[in-house]
Amino acid sequence: MATKLPRMAFFKDRVVPYAEAKVGLLTHALNYGTGVFAGIRGYWNADLGKLLVFRLPDHVRRIHESARLLRMNLALTEEATARAVLDLLRAEGLKEDCYIRPLAFYGDEVIGVRLHGLTPIISIVAVPFGLYIDQADGAHCTVSSWRRPSDNVIPARGKITGSYANSAFAKSDAELAGFDEALLLNQDGYVSEGSGENIFLVRRGVVATPSLNQSVLEGITRRSLITLLRDEMGLTVEERPIERCELFVADEVFLTGTAAQVTAVSRIDHRPVGSGKLGPVTDKLRKLFFDVIRGRVDKYRAWCTAVD
Ligand code: PMP
Repeated sequence: MATKLPRMAFFKDRVVPYAEAKVGLLTHALNYGTGVFAGIRGYWNADLGKLLVFRLPDHVRRIHESARLLRMNLALTEEATARAVLDLLRAEGLKEDCYIRPLAFYGDEVIGVRLHGLTPIISIVAVPFGLYIDQADGAHCTVSSWRRPSDNVIPARGKITGSYANSAFAKSDAELAGFDEALLLNQDGYVSEGSGENIFLVRRGVVATPSLNQSVLEGITRRSLITLLRDEMGLTVEERPIERCELFVADEVFLTGTAAQVTAVSRIDHRPVGSGKLGPVTDKLRKLFFDVIRGRVDKYRAWCTAVD
């Protein structure tokens, strides 16, 4: 997937042309993976003529929490970080769906792996963005031979750049073997998540997703969908350890994330999930979610921040 380069970037403390936002080869985070990031979606609402950013304060809070895990003292408060995202979006001026990438990384040009005595740099860019997984109606997934790192290895609840080498191992092996996405088990052999998505299953009308102590990212889409499933669709959602073979007997399985949104899984390792077609819960949830993210549902309008 080629990404068109942005025009502008928020870099350190202000918005500059993207070409001026540069780092050196010795940058700590480039060498040691000592950065934290967010992936946020902006949705163009043609009726309002505005870009709506989905759950901006929640993404900003998570990047600050991830920064705390890496002992980073960010120069911007949460409020200032959110303002910086909006400043960047105004400068970039996109009038289409987009992906926003805030990053806080140790920018020191030094040799020596550690987390202390270093200074973080904040950057933010935005690029046009459509579907992340092409097969949104039915992805073919494989259970990866790679395992998700546990909390005592690299905490999965933080969105730490270095841990994405793990996702990259799993995703490439899956794609090169002809699958759309990899599903990772945790160190105990329970289901954790996709390479860049949380996972849900539906069985006999009950929804289940791995609990937050199963080496998963605390997904903001996950949290949003649990609310919609419970409060709008009246379903029970269990957060608990999930065994791999529960996926094989589930009626529906779907992946959730900022990039993947709600992506149905139709096959896992060549076994059809349920009927092998888009299931009714996934279908209904996805329609509702798409209305919510475009700011069309009054009750959840507060989840969308307009770029004015
Ligand atoms: N798990 C992983 C490993 C991810 O990279 C992502 C994407 N950020 C998610 C889950 C979903 O999180 P969110 O809904 O907050 O985007």
